[in-house]
Amino acid sequence: MAKRSLTSLSAADLQGKRVLVRVDFNVPLDESGAISDDTRIRAALPTITDLTAKGARVILAAHFGRPKGEVNEAMRLTPVAARLSELLGKPVVKTESCIGPDAEAKVSAMADGDVVLLENVRFFADEEKNETEFARKLAALAEVYVNDAFGAAHRAHASTEGVTEFLTPNVAGHLMEKELQYLQGAIDEPKRPLAAIVGGSKVSSKIGVLESLIDKCDKVLIGGGMIFTFYKARGLAVGKSLVEEDKLELARELEAKAKAKGVQLLLPTDVVLADAFSPDANTLTTSVNEIPDGWMGLDIGPDSLKAFQAALADCKTVIWNGPMGVFEFDKFAAGTNGVAHTLAELSAQGCCTIIGGGDSVAAVEKVGVAEKMSHISTGGGASLELLEGKVLPGVAALDDA
Ligand code: ADP
Ligand code: MG
Repeated sequence: MAKRSLTSLSAADLQGKRVLVRVDFNVPLDESGAISDDTRIRAALPTITDLTAKGARVILAAHFGRPKGEVNEAMRLTPVAARLSELLGKPVVKTESCIGPDAEAKVSAMADGDVVLLENVRFFADEEKNETEFARKLAALAEVYVNDAFGAAHRAHASTEGVTEFLTPNVAGHLMEKELQYLQGAIDEPKRPLAAIVGGSKVSSKIGVLESLIDKCDKVLIGGGMIFTFYKARGLAVGKSLVEEDKLELARELEAKAKAKGVQLLLPTDVVLADAFSPDANTLTTSVNEIPDGWMGLDIGPDSLKAFQAALADCKTVIWNGPMGVFEFDKFAAGTNGVAHTLAELSAQGCCTIIGGGDSVAAVEKVGVAEKMSHISTGGGASLELLEGKVLPGVAALDDA
């Protein structure tokens, strides 16, 4: 079901209104406590500036780190408020606490177009417990609710779900709308052929997504550490490669399921091996039928990359989750880099390319082709759950379109 979005609200709907906006400001800090990457803050700007331009009073709610329900001085949103103020070119008032007298006073003092950032909602254990009374207090600061925190939408917390009981309308912000449009769109009504590239370290962390994607896709390409569980299940020797012994049966089932559904399931035919898990290990490229004892596979090989490129060439939608190898080490980054370049080229030819997953996004950024992709998801866990076909509580709670 499509969800109502901020796009549907005009200045007439928003002028003078107090709008609670859940954002994902969970940015990384360096050792000195400075923000090392403000991507998430910048990603929320279209929603914030749209609201302020329409005369709304913007009350931002966010979590930061894992304070476990207690005030933690190192997890205050103070540096985030400062960076947001720089980016917006206007003051951003931060409250002492996300609920209570100080927040109420600061919100009462707002003029149309002002922006207030509430302190870390996770300073209260009731946030993650989705406690009704806490949600009611948070919601009482505002009238309208906008959820732009896609990265937190897979959690049913007070600020992502509970508050919607008390506010109306409840709509998706621009970032949330874009995430749903691409990720949900690719799953529900993709331009075909639809391919998924699934990698990463373990099959166990990708079971749900593999099962769901085999249901939806025309082609599923598998890379990363999980391929060795598939090879072992086929009876091949895999040396010291990562294998999940308890997932051999599952690997066989997934292959059988793909076959039964007529889905092309592609496994690499060659791999880059290492004699140790180290950036300066000795390497050897072999067929997957000839992996010697004592070696471990850390990347897909060049023939496999070519086969993947050929399989992707006619695709109109490609979803990528999980690196092809240990891309953190240069010697084992070729497969991941090659796929990143291939997807960048396909995007230029009109293919819809969607990248989800924290490490996959990092890999695409490292290669420098992030802007070329159709969509880079800001939500690691949330994008995975959406691709698995799960309902995200923070999305379900929004008004239907
Ligand atoms: P994402 O965050 O994109 O969902 P994952 O977290 O599932 O991706 O997996 C990323 C990790 O998988 C990377 O740290 C990478 O080093 C690791 N990985 C990829 N290929 C292998 C391999 N052959 N052996 C061990 N680890 C691997
Ligand atoms: Mg990861």
